[in-house]
Amino acid sequence: MSLPRRDTRVTYPAGDLEAVTRVVHVAWAGDGRLAVITESTSFHPVDAAWPDQPADAGVIRTAEASVVVRDAVVAATDGDALHLGADIPVRPGTEGWSFLVAHLVDADAAIAEGDEVTIEADAATRRSLSAGHTACHLASLALNRVLASHWSKPAREDALGSPDFDGAAIASSRILPDGSVDRYRLNKSLRRSGFDTASLAADVEAIDVQAMIDQLDAWIASGAPVRIESAGEGLSDRRSWVCELPEGTARIACGGTHLTSLAELSAILPSFALVDNGGTPVLEMVNEARLRH
Ligand SMILES: [Zn+2]
Repeated sequence: MSLPRRDTRVTYPAGDLEAVTRVVHVAWAGDGRLAVITESTSFHPVDAAWPDQPADAGVIRTAEASVVVRDAVVAATDGDALHLGADIPVRPGTEGWSFLVAHLVDADAAIAEGDEVTIEADAATRRSLSAGHTACHLASLALNRVLASHWSKPAREDALGSPDFDGAAIASSRILPDGSVDRYRLNKSLRRSGFDTASLAADVEAIDVQAMIDQLDAWIASGAPVRIESAGEGLSDRRSWVCELPEGTARIACGGTHLTSLAELSAILPSFALVDNGGTPVLEMVNEARLRH
């Protein structure tokens, strides 16, 4: 079986749920699973380098069967072997490598190379993850704004011109159905770059949550359109989240899926906690995204 020499063409950034395509490779993935690679896909996989948004849920329909997709991960090949997820030995987009969406299915699934298939991502799962991801980006911009006065030195600016606390301190980001959890390191290097880590580490109430909620409400009320800009259709092509806010166009590098307008939301509710990670205080922001029904 030959391995694909070009990236999987991905259609989920444009909002697609369904893709009619062909199976180009099936490989053993371990743990009782097969990795099914198709020419194109509408199925969002969890990223290997920055695993923020989980995979879509859904099925691959063949002529005879409906095969449940248990998970979807990024895979890569240089033509010799298929490397899955954390086992990928190179950086995304490395010359000479193809980056692929591997749909993980049960080992006894009736699916084979050459099959014409329809990939169907579940609409409800996609929508709630998209709501969580759009809320995550918007909350990071609102957080940067309310923390602007905590900087004593000029800092790199975010997409709207505020000092980029999110970009400087982010340790991990996890998108949930209708929400997100971001963790920020309040460490020495952040302090040296001019951020007042001490007041935040002493009291999480130093964050003006009500000012954040007011800002988020104003952005939601603007009904700003949201879109994904792509440099190409391949999995490893650069993509950005773009939101036309009243203050200007916000652009953030992003491989996930999103709502198409802030008008789909009724509220974004952030809350904060401090956790300790081996002596380094970590600020945790949990966002709840409420959809307008
Ligand atoms: Zn993102």
